Amino acid sequence: MEMEVRSNLAGLTAEELHRVVSKLGEPAYRARQIFAAVHARRVRSFEEMTDLPKELRATLSEQVVVATLKLESRYVSIDGTRRYLFKTHDNRPVETVFIPQERRDTICFSSQSGCPLQCTFCLTAQLGLLRNLTAGEIVEQIIFALNDAYGVGVKPPRGTNLVGMGAGEPFLNFEELMKGIRIMKEPRGLHVVPNRVTVSTAGIVPRIRELATIPDRPHLAVSLAAPTDELRDELMPINKKWPLEELLSACREFEKSLKPNERMTFEYVMLAGVNDADEHARQLANLLNRHDLSAKVNLIPHNQAEPLPYHPSSAERVETFREILETKGVHAFVRKPRGRDILAACGQLAAQVTPIEVALS
Ligand code: SF4
Repeated sequence: MEMEVRSNLAGLTAEELHRVVSKLGEPAYRARQIFAAVHARRVRSFEEMTDLPKELRATLSEQVVVATLKLESRYVSIDGTRRYLFKTHDNRPVETVFIPQERRDTICFSSQSGCPLQCTFCLTAQLGLLRNLTAGEIVEQIIFALNDAYGVGVKPPRGTNLVGMGAGEPFLNFEELMKGIRIMKEPRGLHVVPNRVTVSTAGIVPRIRELATIPDRPHLAVSLAAPTDELRDELMPINKKWPLEELLSACREFEKSLKPNERMTFEYVMLAGVNDADEHARQLANLLNRHDLSAKVNLIPHNQAEPLPYHPSSAERVETFREILETKGVHAFVRKPRGRDILAACGQLAAQVTPIEVALS
């Protein structure tokens, strides 16, 4: 209970931290030291802030906390992907996935504990919404994953991309999400600029329109999963509220706000025998062309997630689907699944414990 009322340092902007510190009668440079400790040196306790006087650390610890997420389990896939299952101070599950890649690592973070949307192909949906995560809980996921991968405070050898594609619908937690992104872009902190962040939505139309008006913003990905309202209503019930015509008009508006080299993305999960026929590919291409959208399409073979009744499309089916899109002028890419064996892949996050638990290093 006590933790609930104390601010989480990881979720304070530099200005907010400055106010906290000046209320304590401390000089401004102390705020800069604390911000650097949390976000650049990525420490998660007051004891590690050895550049602060002991008394100040004691006073701070009565008023704020440095870290709130507790690691419950950590899994490492044969492909090097890591999945972390945390618990919040009020015992809600939070999942984060670290995906090492040759040129750049990707951290997939969650914006909510559980998810209120009922996409039928996603295990997270089965949890329902437990609660929105705070900006601090969003930032902490990145701090933890970087520390685990490279050591506390060690500069990542490669760049870091962030994707808001973990549990939850990020646009239903818009304020905290955008605050977290603002905090992480600080050059004296984590320094992950919004241009390195992609946020994926199931289609919350008013927020897509709002994002179009924000200059310093993350990239946008929209999960489609179906080329017709009939099928999308079934797979992603949010479509009943904002059907495809409305969604794609908002996407068109968003595209108009992009810089010359920017592109938005559509995600299309491929479910065998459900949405992966040639006809679906043609319908999808026509739909995007009719709305004059030049976004690329990422085809994501479904990841088996018991007890969901779906199976991944075969590699040949995905390739044929991709070719049809390309023939009709739609750029399409096949996303390689990562971390399937540890239930870390898209649609598999449901706070599950898998047998391959790896001891904490
Ligand atoms: S796919 Fe995304 S939006 Fe849909 S239920 Fe899963 S977490 Fe929520």
